[in-house]
Amino acid sequence: MYPAPVQRLVSELGKLPGIGQRTAQRLAFHILRSDLEDATGLADAIREVKERIGLCERCFNLADQPVCDICRDERRDPAVICVVEEPGDVIPMERTHEYRGRYHVLGGALSPIDGVDPEDLKIAELFRRVEGGEIREVVLATNPTTTGEATALHIAAGLRDRSPDVVVTRLASGLPVGSDLEYADEVTLGKAFSGRRAL
Ligand SMILES: [Zn+2]
Repeated sequence: MYPAPVQRLVSELGKLPGIGQRTAQRLAFHILRSDLEDATGLADAIREVKERIGLCERCFNLADQPVCDICRDERRDPAVICVVEEPGDVIPMERTHEYRGRYHVLGGALSPIDGVDPEDLKIAELFRRVEGGEIREVVLATNPTTTGEATALHIAAGLRDRSPDVVVTRLASGLPVGSDLEYADEVTLGKAFSGRRAL
């Protein structure tokens, strides 16, 4: 069909999530048409993240040094750890400007059906961090999904056993701001009700 290098580009692009065969072809032809500078810029950016970005040795967030920017920031509260599933979850938390503690990135959520067990995540590392440090609170900010909830419950139980003095909290889940009750599904509304607070 296509010359081998084009076929190779199409098949590499097709491995990306959400990219089907047709989109892969469209992207490949876009790259073929683009000037050399843009095309090599893309290739260099991919190579650079793979060479320079690793995981922070303390919190497992993305880092271009052994310890990430947030862990190195002395102005942040070292006694509070917010636990998230993926490095991508740190950014929306940071955008709220509500949180001034540190993070712990698990690398996923527990899902026995998919073969994701506690030892596949950075859970033991979290327990060691909490036991070893002056931690006051652990905020469980895993996703409000079945796997995220199971992960939060597993970690909460582990922390109760190991570090009973540490306060363990879970993000409240509730109604989207600006929407009507009648449009909320019953799970969301039920969670919002059980997480109600005094005014
Ligand atoms: Zn870090």
